[in-house]
Amino acid sequence: MAAENEYDEFLVELRESVCSRCVERQPGGPPCAPLGRVCGIEQHFPQLVELCQSTESVQMEPYAQKLHDQICADCDNLDGPTCPCPLRYLLQLAVEAVERVQRRRNAQTVG
Ligand code: SF4
Ligand code: SF4
Repeated sequence: MAAENEYDEFLVELRESVCSRCVERQPGGPPCAPLGRVCGIEQHFPQLVELCQSTESVQMEPYAQKLHDQICADCDNLDGPTCPCPLRYLLQLAVEAVERVQRRRNAQTVG
């Protein structure tokens, strides 16, 4: 099924391969924010995709550093009672999910 916009396919992949493994998933979620769990996966979703697209490394450290500098630094919840949110410890799964979508798109473009 074609994505309705540029980011829909990423959101579907994140929910399937990251949220499905999240121990903080709310009953009936995602989305989890309306159910009481603020989470950077949802709150910073476009920035998360852009972070992954602008980083290329086999190590997680560059991604973690950018998360700290570019997303967490501007997050309204930084160091609040809901921080750290699942984005911090699910970052590797999120990066893998975004890169999977990107590889699929690249293969479609080449093919
Ligand atoms: S808390 Fe965040 S990562 Fe966990 S299921 Fe909800 S939206 Fe996904
Ligand atoms: S880890 Fe904390 S600062 Fe970073 S996105 Fe989550 S709530 Fe915001």
